[in-house]
Amino acid sequence: MSRKPFIAGNWKMNMTVASGKKLIEDLKPLVKDANCDVALCVPAILIPEMVKAAQGSSIHIGAENVHFADKGAYTGEISADMLKDYGVKYVIIGHSERRQYFAETDETVNKRTLTALNADLTPIVCVGETLSERENNETEKVLDRQLEVGLKGIEDLTKLVIAYEPVWAIGTGKTATDEQAQETIAYIRKKLGQLFCPNCAEKVIIQYGGSMNAANCKGLMAQPDIDGGLIGGASLKLDFATIVNFDK
Ligand code: PEP
Repeated sequence: MSRKPFIAGNWKMNMTVASGKKLIEDLKPLVKDANCDVALCVPAILIPEMVKAAQGSSIHIGAENVHFADKGAYTGEISADMLKDYGVKYVIIGHSERRQYFAETDETVNKRTLTALNADLTPIVCVGETLSERENNETEKVLDRQLEVGLKGIEDLTKLVIAYEPVWAIGTGKTATDEQAQETIAYIRKKLGQLFCPNCAEKVIIQYGGSMNAANCKGLMAQPDIDGGLIGGASLKLDFATIVNFDK
């Protein structure tokens, strides 16, 4: 089954209009011959200027979150329609930092994912275990719950992207080994096959995220079930282009 690789950056709460524009301008020629889909998910306030900066290139601009309501009294939130106004295609949902610091739950992940799909946005749904959950052999149980609840009611699994991000590997410099990442992502695919259908699970793009960088991307991307990466720290510099060109 051939799945087109997909490398996405997550700028988190970093960059300004000037530094973001400069990075995108510098990345454009470096990623123009990439054999994968490429996105940069950026802070909401930077979206309009980054969309302009990326115009005419293969870089899609994505968001880091979306609210589940269409509109209303949700001070500080951003709706799917607001993202669509600027041509946003991808949106990260359920990042572990949102779960840890902003009370995101599997239930709110589910609501946001359904809202994004309804608006024709492609959700990048993040799942992953903490260090203590891995050490207590609870990885599969945690992933089961995150997938069962987070993806409840979804009609077409192939319209979303899953990012497997072990929490202990995010921003820590501790990458999962190629084998650990492959084994867990293969488990996720098997679980998706049980929850939806084996054929759609074979089609769904599953990224690895967690200290992926220019040095370790080749080994991770060589694994049969790993279809791409969600890149934090390394997406803030030109290393992102090396990751995008992992096959060269
Ligand atoms: C992330 O924030 O999704 C991430 C994977 O971060 P980092 O690459 O910095 O570990």
